[in-house]
Amino acid sequence: MRRIYSDYAYGPGPRTNCFWDESALAFDWPEMDGDARADLCIIGAGFTGVNAAISAAQSGAAVIVLEAETPGWGASGRNGGFCCLGGGLPERAKLTQRFGEASARAYHNAELSAVSHVADLLSTYGIDADVHSDGETQLAHKPSRMGELEASARDFERTYGKPARILRAADLAEAGLDGPFHGAVSIPTGFALNPRKYIDGILQVARDLGVRIMARSPATGLSRQSGEWHVVTPKGTVRADKALIATNGYSSEDLPDWMAARYMPTQSTIVVTRPLTGDEIQAQGWTSQQMSYDTRHLLHYFRLMPDNRFLIGMRGGLTATPGSEARARANVRKNLAQMFPAWAEVEITHQWSGMVCLSPKFLPFAGEVPEHPGLLAGFAYHGNGVAMASYMGHLLGRLAVGERAEIIPDAIRADPGRFPLGRARRAVMPPAYARFWLQDL
Ligand SMILES: Cc1cc2nc3c(=O)[nH]c(=O)nc-3n(C[C@H](O)[C@H](O)[C@H](O)COP(=O)(O)OP(=O)(O)OC[C@H]3O[C@@H](n4cnc5c(N)ncnc54)[C@H](O)[C@@H]3O)c2cc1C
Repeated sequence: MRRIYSDYAYGPGPRTNCFWDESALAFDWPEMDGDARADLCIIGAGFTGVNAAISAAQSGAAVIVLEAETPGWGASGRNGGFCCLGGGLPERAKLTQRFGEASARAYHNAELSAVSHVADLLSTYGIDADVHSDGETQLAHKPSRMGELEASARDFERTYGKPARILRAADLAEAGLDGPFHGAVSIPTGFALNPRKYIDGILQVARDLGVRIMARSPATGLSRQSGEWHVVTPKGTVRADKALIATNGYSSEDLPDWMAARYMPTQSTIVVTRPLTGDEIQAQGWTSQQMSYDTRHLLHYFRLMPDNRFLIGMRGGLTATPGSEARARANVRKNLAQMFPAWAEVEITHQWSGMVCLSPKFLPFAGEVPEHPGLLAGFAYHGNGVAMASYMGHLLGRLAVGERAEIIPDAIRADPGRFPLGRARRAVMPPAYARFWLQDL
């Protein structure tokens, strides 16, 4: 596997001390040992892979999922738990210009369907994932961003046909959103969850449907032979009619070669406090359980969880070493103290990082890999994959069992293209972050 960060990024270091691990179920997944045959072989057991496995298995397909570590080890088991609109960062006008009005609408409908898809899974299978928050709220971090937020509220109403609520600076304290903010917009779509409970819940569903899920079984080779995909692992090969790459920010340049430079992993870092007391919550004035983020390009995302712990995340390091990981964690702690000074001295009990994934055109990709018959891929959810990765996985699973490609919106099926600089493409990130940082001042 040829990957673009140092080995540290793909090892245990960044995920050590992840809060969600405390609620992980104790599964005993087998390793791939010997050769096997399947209708569909999925590489990667996160939201994309497991959702694909469920929908293919529901249609009667024999499915094997190969996971290099343990299921949910990647971003799916260590994210902020915002189940929300997103998945890409396209400008509406550009999306319409490039794909047409109907396709742009299909893209936005997919965003809505993605949130409903996760809600339906939770209710259908009785998965208790500590859900809270009534939609989500974006807060202006400086007065000049309030105008943009008002425009985004109008845009939201036009695009999704639902009302957005504008909160002025003077309304925030009463809404329990007191902090260094100058107003906000709340939209009624989305909710927050414990991502570990969600992934563990759907892993049980997949297992009950007969999906064979293999841990510690990295795919190290992928080739097409005699009309089948051969997925090689250290102890055996899976032969399958269809294969799905569901590795997102943990992808490799050569699995297959088509992936090279089509995705950009970047790190995000989260810290979680001990449960806050009622007095501490009142002292800060942030009493709401609304999942929230600010208007920075390099945004903060944060929420008070049902057990009164506070979670806050933001961009992580540009490199992946023990030192950069320690600095990224310290940086989030510093930002927490600056934004919520009443909690500056509160003990941080958990902190960790993981990989999100961008694409050159800021759109997710899900569909057939061009010129690779029977090979599917789903990746690049731009840090918003709880809903979108789940839904794309679901659609990819249906594609694998013979549904028409058109069930996935054109904008998402389009070839994402390649980043410049090939394997050295991370070099574009420091100047981009510097530019965003300046714009955020
Ligand atoms: C810190 C952080 C916070 C985030 N917060 C949010 C949030 O609040 N809301 C939101 O919507 N999104 C959030 N995201 C993004 C979201 O978690 C991801 O978009 C989503 O989980 C992607 O799911 P996935 O299944 O595609 O990939 P992943 O969950 O990353 O799974 C990929 C899996 O592939 C495996 N793999 C890689 N190579 C191989 C191989 N060769 N063989 C076998 N297995 C392999 C990896 O081990 C990994 O388990 C966050 C991400 C991070 C890291």
